[in-house]
Amino acid sequence: MMAQHFEIAIIGGGISGAALFYELSKYTNAKKVALIEKYHALSTLNSKGTSNSQTIHCGDIETNYTYEKASKVKPNADMIINYGKLVNAQDKFMFSHQKMALAVGETECEFMEKRYEEFKNLYPYIRKFDKEEIKKIEPKVVEALGGGDRPEKIFAMGSLVGDTYTTVDYGKMSISLVEEAKKVRPDNEVFFNEEITSIYKKGDVFYIRSISGNEFSANFVVVDAGAHSLFLAHKMGYGHDYACLPVAGSFYLTKKHLLNGKVYMVQNPKLPFAALHGDPDILCDMNTRFGPTALALPKLERYHGLKSLPEFFKTLRLDSAVMKILFDLMKDSTIRNYILRNFLFEVPGLNKGLFVKDARKIVPSLTTDDITYAKGFGGVRPQVLNKTEKKLMLGEASIVPENQGIIFNMTPSPGATSCMGNALRDLKLAVNYLKLEFNEELFNKELRADV
Ligand SMILES: Cc1cc2nc3c(=O)[nH]c(=O)nc-3n(C[C@H](O)[C@H](O)[C@H](O)COP(=O)(O)OP(=O)(O)OC[C@H]3O[C@@H](n4cnc5c(N)ncnc54)[C@H](O)[C@@H]3O)c2cc1C
Repeated sequence: MMAQHFEIAIIGGGISGAALFYELSKYTNAKKVALIEKYHALSTLNSKGTSNSQTIHCGDIETNYTYEKASKVKPNADMIINYGKLVNAQDKFMFSHQKMALAVGETECEFMEKRYEEFKNLYPYIRKFDKEEIKKIEPKVVEALGGGDRPEKIFAMGSLVGDTYTTVDYGKMSISLVEEAKKVRPDNEVFFNEEITSIYKKGDVFYIRSISGNEFSANFVVVDAGAHSLFLAHKMGYGHDYACLPVAGSFYLTKKHLLNGKVYMVQNPKLPFAALHGDPDILCDMNTRFGPTALALPKLERYHGLKSLPEFFKTLRLDSAVMKILFDLMKDSTIRNYILRNFLFEVPGLNKGLFVKDARKIVPSLTTDDITYAKGFGGVRPQVLNKTEKKLMLGEASIVPENQGIIFNMTPSPGATSCMGNALRDLKLAVNYLKLEFNEELFNKELRADV
């Protein structure tokens, strides 16, 4: 069978693949671009609205971000907002809610007050809220378990409705990106139900085979397949210094509007994953959702049985370097307790009681009767282990073999927020490699305005 040829092929139709498909279609003269997805639709895994926290992580309320990291993250977050405005997505898949990073107790409040002063220039809309103001905008954060006000000092920094955009259904945004791309370049194609099992290069051309026996060829390939990006990279002999530890995140739902907006907590700097937060779920009638938890799972995809178990072992590539990283994580009592606690958050009978104890830092009056484990919610973060540095990498990772015309992206949180920025980075590599034209002026005008 003759391979269908494309100038650029993107493997994986989550938010990362969809963003790149859009940017290549709209702002370059790439002749034909293919987006090849394993399942029947876009974003059925981690980019689906119910799989992640629906947050635009721009760095203002993420207390684990330094000023330097926040300055890098913000332009990527701004691109999401600019795209949303461009396609009139306000209140369709992009929303402006209230949000805050909440400090509880003297030490955290002192930290947050300093952080507010440091970050206010980067986020001109940012506000500080003392206990009285918090009581007005998020009364449940102040109300104590038996009534009255919680006794601790609290302080928060954040924004009010209308200040900025905070929330996105990244699943719906993926669909919009592909629809907009097809409007300008109807000849660019999207393929569903094509699980790519092998990629090999012959001369200057990549041959891409799917499990159904179809073959595609391309001059440039970007693999945006989440944890499977590393699986496919290893198959091609790339990225052996990386391994993947999939960390699932679950949520608990309430049937009430306990919170008016997003309430994040101060991140313990020792912990590798974002602190628990509470917010209105845009896909569940704005009922409050708490989470995510963090549970290492021996599979690359959630809710697909044990299908990806063998692939997990292949991408983990368990050896002494991986063992050392895992051992070092477990050696630290804070991390060990966190891992154990997060495991218990999944154990029926024990989970709700333990989880409520943690979530009461946000809503002190929360009880076990208020929450239910959100079945089918929460995806998997493909955390990358760097075997050379013997470290768990906290953010995203890419494998870009020099001058080979192929890129592999692994995208744990905040990969959805970074999708437009990551796509721009990959677009530039493709444009350079294939000697294409890039309408940067239009790109900057439409997507790079400060918001
Ligand atoms: C609990 C949780 C909370 C999160 N919260 C946030 C948040 O609030 N904000 C934020 O910015 N980020 C958040 N993230 C991270 C965010 O969800 C991901 O970074 C993002 O969705 C990754 O998008 P992606 O397109 O790279 O990968 P995915 O969404 O995983 O998409 C990969 C696609 O590749 C396809 N694929 C895989 N293998 C193959 C193959 N062999 N052939 C063809 N196709 C293949 C898959 O079917 C899938 O459609 C969260 C993640 C989790 C788990």
